[in-house]
Amino acid sequence: MQSTSRAEAFPASTPAVSQIFTTVLSHGPLTRLEVARRTGLSPAAVTKAVRPLIEAGYLVEDSAEEGRAALGRPANPLRVDGGRALFTGLKVTGDEIIGVLVDLCCRIRTARRVPLNGRAPEEVLAAAADLVQELLIEADGYGVGVLGLGIAVSGDVDRAEGTVRYSPFLEWRDVPLAELAGTTCGLPVTVDNDVRALTVAEQWFGDGVGLSDFAVVTVGAGIGCGLVVHGQVVAGAHGVAGEIGHVTVDPAGPPCHCGNRGCVEAIAADGAIVTQVREATGMEIADTAEAVDLAHRGNAGARAVYAKAGEAIGRGIATVANLLGPERVIISGEGLAAYDLFAEQIRDAFATAAFGSAAQCEVRTRPLPFEEWARGAAATAIQSFITPDPN
Ligand SMILES: [Zn+2]
Repeated sequence: MQSTSRAEAFPASTPAVSQIFTTVLSHGPLTRLEVARRTGLSPAAVTKAVRPLIEAGYLVEDSAEEGRAALGRPANPLRVDGGRALFTGLKVTGDEIIGVLVDLCCRIRTARRVPLNGRAPEEVLAAAADLVQELLIEADGYGVGVLGLGIAVSGDVDRAEGTVRYSPFLEWRDVPLAELAGTTCGLPVTVDNDVRALTVAEQWFGDGVGLSDFAVVTVGAGIGCGLVVHGQVVAGAHGVAGEIGHVTVDPAGPPCHCGNRGCVEAIAADGAIVTQVREATGMEIADTAEAVDLAHRGNAGARAVYAKAGEAIGRGIATVANLLGPERVIISGEGLAAYDLFAEQIRDAFATAAFGSAAQCEVRTRPLPFEEWARGAAATAIQSFITPDPN
């Protein structure tokens, strides 16, 4: 096992170097001139910044015009050498952990899942350690180091401190997860909110590529939202931002676990839907799958619950659009399985509540399996690796 100190350091002396690297990662191969244009840096600054990255093997130069162009020519496109390093990412849900091993381009090399026997921090850590161990064994075959571990957890997560402040689904409060997992797994650990981690992956590789302002809204066990404003994933001064799950849409609505009433999450999250379908139909349905099934079979009570949920989500999305004016809102999450039951209400409520030009924001759906969330966690580990040490 490696120590928790970084086995290898990325030669990033300034934020500009990280910015250049992520630009090539998302948009590459790119010539130095194209990098300069996209980052707003001077071509000379780009040339200077990429030199140590090429020397250390993180960037490679494609000699596009082989035979004619000498290496080091500014016209040669640059790309990230994915095989140069490996990272791992974990997404923790209420009943399992999904883990991926990715390369430096954040391409998934291996994916695994392990069930959770319990939600206490020590049980989750034990399962996480086993899963990481399996991924590290897989990694041995590639002959390069695993340089970091990202863990994505739902709830209020302080990434800078590496602490899960409050996770309702895990029932955790103030768990120093980065420190605990670092000791257990022997890797540098980045802990982030799961939706923010997914948003990083969407920004680098998904439907957010090339957009400076967009939002990811996830529907499922909870209602989450990741925000990108001016090209930056918003974390908020206290680690909480974009909590559209707790936007009030009905002050007289059902109680929410946060202590308020009528939050989007209290109306549209999986658990809330199951409860409301039981109340509306008097039927003892067991879970979301049964609720969806009942609605698909035309049960009016169940359909009305989904319609109300769609309206709540649409109003939540309109709130984001009105406040921040994103170009696009990407709706994802396991709740998309019921999307046909509330798509129309989401669209209608959004159109009604969005103010003026904010309604021009494109709302699109994108099913993303939990492996993509784990990939987002790995992306946060890559992000930490390529970000210069503040010291
Ligand atoms: Zn709430």
